[in-house]
Amino acid sequence: MGALRITKKSNKYIAQISVEKVSHIVKGDVVMGVDLGLKVPAVAVTDSGKTFFFGNGRQNKYVKRKYKAKRKKLGKAKKLKVIKKLDDKEQRWMTDQDHKVSREIINFAVNNNVSDIRLEKLTNIRNTARTSRKNEKNLHTWSFYRLAQFIEYKALLKGIKVEYVDPKYTSQICPECKKLNKARDRKYKCSCGFKTHRDRVGAINIINAPVVDGKSLLA
Ligand SMILES: [Zn+2]
Repeated sequence: MGALRITKKSNKYIAQISVEKVSHIVKGDVVMGVDLGLKVPAVAVTDSGKTFFFGNGRQNKYVKRKYKAKRKKLGKAKKLKVIKKLDDKEQRWMTDQDHKVSREIINFAVNNNVSDIRLEKLTNIRNTARTSRKNEKNLHTWSFYRLAQFIEYKALLKGIKVEYVDPKYTSQICPECKKLNKARDRKYKCSCGFKTHRDRVGAINIINAPVVDGKSLLA
């Protein structure tokens, strides 16, 4: 549901509410894998091999570092209220980025007749909540979770199905012969002859990975 507007006409009040209607008409039958990450916030590959990189990992890192430095300075001066404000500001910025990236992903999906988006199922979300302050990697899990949720609800509004897959080995498995390899530098190379940009491998494998039972993102 969108904005509520109340207007007065002669002696009557009129309330107008804008609603977004879910359209279940999806024309295409293309499956798209989306791999979430830090260096590249999201990589999408369709089952016909069309690829797109979303977001700006380097900028995100820069902004996070900037806020961290500011907080550290304030922490020493015990300006807790200001720190809280900064935290909120940083969260808003990151949330905005996720809205932007998810919107772009869904536009890409619509333009490429995607009917089904596959994402990795994130694990140990509940454990993560308790330890997030201490563990950088877990903090990232939370930000992946938020982005995945944005993708899911924006997809549903377009009638695109979202499924979650088992994330095991998705960054290592060769999409051609199923051998496990580790990417070197920016390249993924397999002895069978398959090679591609390392950031594409995850998304390609997500297309073909087993779908996990249940629609929930939570493990
Ligand atoms: Zn191979």
